[in-house]
Amino acid sequence: KIIMGVESSCDETGIGLVRLHDDGTVELLADEVASSVEQHARFGGVVPEVASRAHLEAMVPTVRRAFDSAGLTLSDVDAIAVTAGPGLAGALLVGVSAAKAYAAALNVPLYGVNHLAGHIAVDTLQHGPLPTPSLALLVSGGHTQLLRVDDIASKITEIGSTVDDAAGEAYDKVARVLGLPYPGGPPIDKAAQEGDPGAIAFPRGMTGPRDPAFDFSFSGLKTAVARWVEGAQARGEQVPVADVAASFQEAVADVLTAKAVRAATESGIGTLVISGGVAANSRLAGLAAERCAEAGIELRVPRPRLCTDNGAMIAALGAHLVAAGCAPSPLDLSANPALPVSTVCV
Ligand code: ATP
Ligand code: MG
Ligand code: FE
Repeated sequence: KIIMGVESSCDETGIGLVRLHDDGTVELLADEVASSVEQHARFGGVVPEVASRAHLEAMVPTVRRAFDSAGLTLSDVDAIAVTAGPGLAGALLVGVSAAKAYAAALNVPLYGVNHLAGHIAVDTLQHGPLPTPSLALLVSGGHTQLLRVDDIASKITEIGSTVDDAAGEAYDKVARVLGLPYPGGPPIDKAAQEGDPGAIAFPRGMTGPRDPAFDFSFSGLKTAVARWVEGAQARGEQVPVADVAASFQEAVADVLTAKAVRAATESGIGTLVISGGVAANSRLAGLAAERCAEAGIELRVPRPRLCTDNGAMIAALGAHLVAAGCAPSPLDLSANPALPVSTVCV
């Protein structure tokens, strides 16, 4: 069976095509992404109206590119999955409207799915079926969550989340303070390679004895970095960008991996999946590998291209729903910008 995935929750228009095999494995056939990230760069963050218009312009050409690259035609499609939420309302609506039109025209079932569950499901395209239960650390521009996955098609439970900024948001804000471009993750990752991660002792948020064990906080860290940089500038000193980047990155990776490994160990879960845009971070992946090895936990991190927003993740989740025999969504489904992660399919 061929499943098409449609993603438009933020600033990436993504179309993915996968094949669901009889044995339940899911094969990636096409993954085309059109990003409007450059149009948002000068604003330092995603502008919703700009993103919606870009989706509208990119949707049909991206669908065409996906089918061309897979050597398939629309009539080969057996089911369609689309991101129903969470995300930007106007951006989501473009994908949902397009997916409904394709589903009606092709007379195939439509699944309105959860974007966050898609970030986890995408790992099965690279590493095969997910052992259950698994623990997922989802770290992106809008989310930072620890999730227990009992069944990717139907049972995902939140164990902890950020109480303020998402990890990716902290990267983007710290990059701005350091005069690095948006999005901030890649340039900070690069600058940090030349820096000393022990140069500056930045705070580890939410790690006090009375703090919730599995929640995160990055806004204090972001402020601490800004204060430190302002202090150096006020004294007329040159800001050691590489050392600040490396020390900030170390603080983020330390807290994320410590809490994820502790959550897995305490719940007796043997597999940790790290996904979302920040999973592309080299230090996060490196420290997670060290700590998981020590704790005897299997670590799965999809390749960077699969970690950031794309349509393949939505197609993969759709394939798991089809394989599990889940009921399709009604054709009058609507986008839900605040869809909770516990709702895998609307
Ligand atoms: P969400 O999935 O929560 O709706 P989103 O679409 O903004 O949000 P992604 O596309 O998954 O999220 O991730 C984008 C984020 O990942 C940005 O904040 C970016 O700075 C960050 N990021 C990308 N590469 C790296 C990296 N190498 N190191 C750290 N952060 C990174
Ligand atoms: Mg994005
Ligand atoms: Fe995302």
